[in-house]
Amino acid sequence: MPLPASRDITLIGAGLVGALLATLLAQRGFRVTVFERRPDPRVHGFLGGRSINLALAERGWHGLRVAGLTDAIAPIAVMMRGRRIHDAAGNTQLQRYGRDDSEVIWSVSRGQLNCTLLTAAQKAGATIHFGQRLEQIDWTGSRLQLHDDRDGCVRWHDAGVLLGTDGAGSALRQAMQATTDLGERLDSLGHGYKELEIPPLQQLPDAALTPALREAKARGEGFAMDPNALHIWPRGNYMCIALPNAEGSFTVTLFLPGTPINDGPAFSTLDTREAVQAFFARDFADAVPLMPDYLDDFTRNPTGLLATLYLERWHLDGRALLLGDAAHAIVPFHGQGMNCGFEDAVELADLLATDRGDTADVFAEFQRRRKPNSDAIAAMALDNYVEMRDRVDDPEYLLMRELERVLAARHPQRYLPRYSIVTFTRLPYAFARTRGEQQAQLLRELVRGKASLGEIDLAAADAAVAALAPLPAH
Ligand code: FAD
Repeated sequence: MPLPASRDITLIGAGLVGALLATLLAQRGFRVTVFERRPDPRVHGFLGGRSINLALAERGWHGLRVAGLTDAIAPIAVMMRGRRIHDAAGNTQLQRYGRDDSEVIWSVSRGQLNCTLLTAAQKAGATIHFGQRLEQIDWTGSRLQLHDDRDGCVRWHDAGVLLGTDGAGSALRQAMQATTDLGERLDSLGHGYKELEIPPLQQLPDAALTPALREAKARGEGFAMDPNALHIWPRGNYMCIALPNAEGSFTVTLFLPGTPINDGPAFSTLDTREAVQAFFARDFADAVPLMPDYLDDFTRNPTGLLATLYLERWHLDGRALLLGDAAHAIVPFHGQGMNCGFEDAVELADLLATDRGDTADVFAEFQRRRKPNSDAIAAMALDNYVEMRDRVDDPEYLLMRELERVLAARHPQRYLPRYSIVTFTRLPYAFARTRGEQQAQLLRELVRGKASLGEIDLAAADAAVAALAPLPAH
């Protein structure tokens, strides 16, 4: 199917990826119509359903930059320099992500980001219909069946070229799957998540605060913990993390197995307020006084499920293509799902704008370019869960990270930590994964049996790094 002369494109879903893609396509002269299930969040408030804030890294910033939106997002983004690790005794330590403040990630509110993107899409000329849920597709007549959540009516719309940005539970994917086998596989992680909140310091009662925090509150400070870090309480098979919000609060997320592993804690066993209280008092004692409502939040907030979605095919010839979470939902431990989806959006907008050939060929080319990369970040995100919850306080891991920093400084053309490749560059995720495996092997051999940096043979380390291919320009 060639792209229609009118350059009409229909998107399903105006979440983060859909709203950015609508902006980019409208900016390139396409006539974009978007159907979004939820009501307009700028009018009715944001009905999120998943993480309240997210980590934005270079790949995500690039998408915003291409759309001309960095100035709109920068004021609502809070810098996170590294991981601040909270040990069981309540001591904390910052592990920097990069060399300096040029290599950081940013915490942004999902709701504010989505609203900004929706406004940008409409400003660029996209038409967004809110409260319109895709129910099914008549592929023979090429028509969409939409349920209007405002009046309960069902409407039909000519499908044309369809792009699915309707997230992990994509209705478009289901409709495509009904007509052709997409080779879908959903790997459940077996762990879920629950969101809690640390309110702004000024809202915390004095009685809950340490003397130092009471003084900080009296000075008018906004945050109850270091605002410029992603906080982690690593506890082996589970962990809490906290990301700052611009107005002074933190969104805390508990990641925990659904059912017990080796008799450890699990969502299934935290079934009374007493059990939750005992669990938090034992494992997250320094956070408890900062979360006055955590017991109510725990009971009230849903437990989110975590899984990785793999599809062998992302498109139905030239009629429909999936991207973002609809094509490759991943677990959130590298903070890259949205970042990866924004990369998809830029790549697809460029391909559609420059390639005047058959849409089926454009979609096939998009999948050829993107799938190896989404597979790679899916695998690295799974690796990162083990790293965050179990390794960030392990001496061998810390020594490897220390050596890695030394090697990166000595050999900037040849050594870049995998985390940095993923987070601070736009080198393909597939490259990050392969290179990361080579580098991890090298580090493991160099630190074997060593307790400190001083014991490591730096000449041997230099020789090992010299054997790596030079890094591509980034
Ligand atoms: P979504 O954001 O899910 O948007 C889909 C949209 O489609 C929604 O607006 C929905 O209402 C709409 N829709 C759904 N069904 C229909 C229908 N039938 N008809 C019409 N509209 C429909 N990523 C990061 O980069 N950094 C992070 O730090 C990060 N943290 C995360 C933490 C958690 C706990 C989770 C769960 C995810 C996290 N992610 C993170 C991943 C990120 O949330 C997703 O990758 C991102 O939201 C994907 O965007 P999307 O637009 O593809 O899907």
